[in-house]
Amino acid sequence: MTDCIFCKIAKGEIPSKKIYEDDEMLAFYDTSPQAPVHFLVIPQTHIENIMEVGVENSPLLGRLLIRAEVLARRLGCEEKGARFVINCKEHGGQTVDHLHIHVLAGRPLGWPPG
Ligand code: AMP
Ligand code: ZN
Repeated sequence: MTDCIFCKIAKGEIPSKKIYEDDEMLAFYDTSPQAPVHFLVIPQTHIENIMEVGVENSPLLGRLLIRAEVLARRLGCEEKGARFVINCKEHGGQTVDHLHIHVLAGRPLGWPPG
């Protein structure tokens, strides 16, 4: 998708602070961190949100989630844990329409969400 900022990040057209990259995914730090650790894991291909993933892409979704977990461990979150979040559409608080998993950690996080 040409006007999608996360597609542009995936193509290297917009800079990002990358943590991990392979053929099918990319992880980078959020530019507006909401916790001491806050990064995003996205597929390289444009999928709008989790409701558009489809059964055919469920293995990819699993690998994105596992990669998020591996990176969280690597960034020191194993002992205290982290939050893995996927916002979807308006009521879910999604502001960038390219599937992404937020990983937030490094401080206690409130629940329920406001
Ligand atoms: P969401 O509200 O779930 O769609 O999350 C989108 C996230 O993308 C927000 O936390 C933003 O701070 C983050 N974000 C927006 N633009 C960029 C960017 N260029 N690089 C890194 N993170 C970004
Ligand atoms: Zn995109």
